[in-house]
Amino acid sequence: MGAGLFGAAFAQQVRAAGKSVLVIDRRSHIGGNVYTEEIEGIQVHRYGAHIFHTNDRSVWEYVNRFAEFNRYTNAPVANYRGELYSLPFNMYTFNKLWGVVTPREAEAKIREQREAAGITEPKNLEEQAISLVGTDIYERLIKGYTEKQWGRPCSELPSFIIKRLPVRFTFDNNYFNARYQGIPVGGYTRMVERMLDGVEVRLNVDYLQHKAELDALADRVVYTGSVDAYFDDCYGPLSYRSVRFETEVLDTPNFQGNAVVNYTDRETPFTRIIEHKFFEFGTQPKTVISREYSAEWRPGMEPYYPVNDEKNSALYEQYKALADRERKTVFGGRLGEYRYYDMDAVLLSALQLAEKELGKEGEQA
Ligand SMILES: Cc1cc2nc3c(=O)[nH]c(=O)nc-3n(C[C@H](O)[C@H](O)[C@H](O)COP(=O)(O)OP(=O)(O)OC[C@H]3O[C@@H](n4cnc5c(N)ncnc54)[C@H](O)[C@@H]3O)c2cc1C
Repeated sequence: MGAGLFGAAFAQQVRAAGKSVLVIDRRSHIGGNVYTEEIEGIQVHRYGAHIFHTNDRSVWEYVNRFAEFNRYTNAPVANYRGELYSLPFNMYTFNKLWGVVTPREAEAKIREQREAAGITEPKNLEEQAISLVGTDIYERLIKGYTEKQWGRPCSELPSFIIKRLPVRFTFDNNYFNARYQGIPVGGYTRMVERMLDGVEVRLNVDYLQHKAELDALADRVVYTGSVDAYFDDCYGPLSYRSVRFETEVLDTPNFQGNAVVNYTDRETPFTRIIEHKFFEFGTQPKTVISREYSAEWRPGMEPYYPVNDEKNSALYEQYKALADRERKTVFGGRLGEYRYYDMDAVLLSALQLAEKELGKEGEQA
């Protein structure tokens, strides 16, 4: 069991049902990737910016039991060679790009560019993006950013990476369409602390190094680490994309005026800068920023995004077959299931697993 959101929600539920539960994590802190750490009075998202958003009312009510959420709405800004554009693509973006004022003019502009490109069957990501939004948006707001993210030219990336590119003909900068959105006041760590209230937690313990003795303590084990590591990489390691963060405290109250600024040109080496205080409308005299560099993952690095291409999906299926045969251990969360999970989805999955496991116990009794 890890002390990330999956482990914490599962532990909270079984503890509430009166079972004894032990959470262990190899890191020195709880929270997994949503961990926030206070620097200069600012909650810093140590493993990347995390914005909670969901359409699921039950998950929203669940998290609100452990934290009060503020009204933060994600409205990133794109910086393309010093020019600023609103994201996601909306009327503010189109006005800045082409000077158009009405939705009809903007639609006509995009249609004109798509038609001029004349792409009927996109063969790669570049063609796919142009066929969806035209050349200007692609060149300025998609190309450089995507190439930095994947470390390859868009013309060599498969088209399926971009299935849809939401375009809004309204003046709406809200990045997510979700019904509920916000950031827990006081940070995610405090929220997870409350979830784990009354649960025994052991930190700095690697489950795989102490597997036999830890397994002996429990009837059931929930494992939220990497599934390939669990099986000693017997079929070879699964691939990930990683991110490197460069965090800096600056002696200024306001560096960029927004929590998230994406750098969409190819030349700037980082993909975005996060200014953490703006997730909580902070008014501290200093500020903390993190530059994010997308990186190819190598063993030993922090795995962030699973690469769900054909090769890795097939490899995962092999590991999953082994995982399904484990009698005592259940695999959960983003690493245990090798899939990208948003926070609300990972919570829902943990709550469902807890219900299933507790139901089983009820049947056996
Ligand atoms: C850069 C980035 C940005 C994101 N932004 C958002 C966002 O804005 N909104 C959103 O909804 N979601 C976001 N997510 C997704 C979010 O981080 C995940 O949904 C969530 O953290 C998954 O929780 P988890 O418990 O499955 O995994 P984790 O948080 O990774 O927890 C797993 C835990 O297991 C521990 N562990 C692993 N192996 C072992 C071992 N052998 N022994 C002991 N402990 C072990 C780890 O140390 C870790 O603490 C983002 C993800 C990334 C990578």
